[in-house]
Amino acid sequence: MLKRLEIVGFKSFAKKTVLDFSNSTTAIVGPNGSGKSNVAEAFRFALGEQSMRSMRGKRAEDLIWGGSHTVPRSNRASVVIIFDNSRRQFKIDFDEVAIERVAFRDGTSEYSINGSRVRLRDINELLASANIGETGHHIISQGEADRILLANARERRSMLEDALGLKVYEFKKQEASRKLEKTEENIGQVNSLRRELAPHLRFLENQVKKLERADELRRELISLSQTYFAIEDTFLSQEKKRAAESKQNAKERLAVATSELATIEERATTDEEGSKRLSLVRKAEHDVERITGERSELSRKLGRVEGGLAAAKDRSERVAREPYAKVPRQDLTELAREVAKQAEEAVTPDTIYAALAAINKAVKAFVGRFTAPGDDLLADEERAAYALENERTELVAKDKLFSEELEKVKSALSRAREALTAHDETGRELRRRILDLAQAKAHEESEVAKSDAREHELTMLSEALERDKAEALALGGASAVSYTPLSQLPSEERRAQEDRKRVLERTKIRLEEAGGTGEEIRHEHKEVSEREVFLAKELDDLAKSAAGLRALIDDLDTELQKHFSDGLSKVNASFGEYFALMFGGGSARLALEEPEPEDTESLEEEMEEDMPTEKERPGIEISVNLPKKKVRSLMQLSGGERALTSIALIFAMSQVNPPPFLILDETDAALDEANSRRYGDMIENLAQKSQLIVITHNRETMSRTTILYGVTMGGDGVSKLLSVKFDEAVAVAK
Ligand code: ATP
Repeated sequence: MLKRLEIVGFKSFAKKTVLDFSNSTTAIVGPNGSGKSNVAEAFRFALGEQSMRSMRGKRAEDLIWGGSHTVPRSNRASVVIIFDNSRRQFKIDFDEVAIERVAFRDGTSEYSINGSRVRLRDINELLASANIGETGHHIISQGEADRILLANARERRSMLEDALGLKVYEFKKQEASRKLEKTEENIGQVNSLRRELAPHLRFLENQVKKLERADELRRELISLSQTYFAIEDTFLSQEKKRAAESKQNAKERLAVATSELATIEERATTDEEGSKRLSLVRKAEHDVERITGERSELSRKLGRVEGGLAAAKDRSERVAREPYAKVPRQDLTELAREVAKQAEEAVTPDTIYAALAAINKAVKAFVGRFTAPGDDLLADEERAAYALENERTELVAKDKLFSEELEKVKSALSRAREALTAHDETGRELRRRILDLAQAKAHEESEVAKSDAREHELTMLSEALERDKAEALALGGASAVSYTPLSQLPSEERRAQEDRKRVLERTKIRLEEAGGTGEEIRHEHKEVSEREVFLAKELDDLAKSAAGLRALIDDLDTELQKHFSDGLSKVNASFGEYFALMFGGGSARLALEEPEPEDTESLEEEMEEDMPTEKERPGIEISVNLPKKKVRSLMQLSGGERALTSIALIFAMSQVNPPPFLILDETDAALDEANSRRYGDMIENLAQKSQLIVITHNRETMSRTTILYGVTMGGDGVSKLLSVKFDEAVAVAK
């Protein structure tokens, strides 16, 4: 699947150089220093290698053609690897995949896949999906064959995981962990939003409860009002009718008595002396009538004033009951400013005492200004009541004068009548009759006056009823004053209705205290509680997705574990075989590192971190057993033996999970003739599963390959590539 490599400006390849690869093995040969290893490094470079050291450089510039006396230096190094993807080994829907990296002298790199700019991470993920890992187990650099032997146990494990194609699980795990972290962050945010919301919500819930209580009071008020008004209306109209009737009857009887008395008195005085006395009687009668009329006019006036006075008293009591004082905002601001100023100046104990005294004074003055007796409204009411009171006193005084005068004219009248009757000795009978009639007349007059008083009383009650209705309307709405009048009063005492009125008044006060309808509060409560429900749901969703992610991470771990131990035993079987083959006996195996006994200190550290740390996976140890030798440590092996062991392990790993291609840079350098033949056999074996590119000086190795490239370097320092035949290759390689 490796098709082509294109190098421009990378290291010694100043000019564009193209290497085509066939299905099986390609050899790159050439004299020392001609640029062969640069080809292997070109692969590393394009696959995203970040370590400068593994490309034998210190700075990015070292990777770019540095120039010679004939060829000027380049500003960029570019390498493209083209893969055949017709079998979709890469998870990307193209028949060819071109991975390119360009490096610039300022140290920056650009990556692209099929010409589209991508991030390095995208390249890594794409490669991992095709089993071309990061740790570069598929590119064995010159002298680095035993890298896996020299690495520590943990690095070895990482290389093995990479070789087994398990990096994909790592990527997926990292991805899931990133998402989990983000989700947990979101959970934290939602939780803190909910915490912020909670006190406000509690406040609103309390407000709404109060409003509900007010609603209940309002319903009580409405039902009480309806009953009360219906009864009161009926009661008043019945009483008014009754009073009017009895007044009418008394007036009629009065008229009869008056005219009869006039007739008899007329008859009783026909003589001159009699006429004179009679005229005195008439005059006195006239005076009595006039004064009585004026007095009843006065009494009507007095009634009106008393009514007004009662209403004013009622109102001022209501004002005094008002639980809240209206405080102008400016006064409040001034008070706050004064207190702040005092507080600022208070630094030493003395100034603090002074400040406290000043604040106390300011607060007292402020409160004094807004307590009930000073209230403007109340003062207005009291002024009005005062004026009415004065008027009443005046009227009462006048009434007293009238009543004295009336007494005088009445006694004048009775004296005149006595004189008249005395004159008429013969009119004894008549006189008795006159007395009777006068008595009857006085009785009817008092009946009329009683009816007047009753009518006046009823008018007052009607006015009070209208005021009650206005209040009920304001507090309970229209339904409080909509009721059907009764056809008949309930059979109960008047006291029952008075009790009703008292309950009604109490309910009004409590309702006034409970405040308005609170539409805004209700609306806000609805909004805030909806938001709370939304957040709770969101939290639930987040918790679910966090649980899902944790389960995914666990699954990936388990799977990784399983594939790893399967892979490990397969690699071991193969490793043992290759090892025995290379050494003509003996054995070798990979083993999981024994977990170190945990001392208390590290335990404490773990506790301190308080985070579920990822379980440290054990590293990999290598144990070898050479035929006919007792060797304990890898370090005791000779150079050749180390090379053989590494080759056995590299080949074993490649066998179990064949990488798409394998580059071996002079891995065979240390082998003698017999081992070169075995090496050649293994290469042929391996070439059946992976594409091989070998950089070699070894004749035996060359003989096992299908394509041969020669690399030469002329006087201009530029590496050049040419296709060669086997015989030429042997010559070129020298
Ligand atoms: P050997 O057989 O000895 O291992 P080789 O064929 O692998 O040799 P390389 O190590 O690939 O040779 O090539 C090294 C050559 O590349 C040297 O001549 C070096 O000067 C040249 N070279 C390395 N980097 C640059 C660069 N940035 N610009 C120009 N030439 C470079």
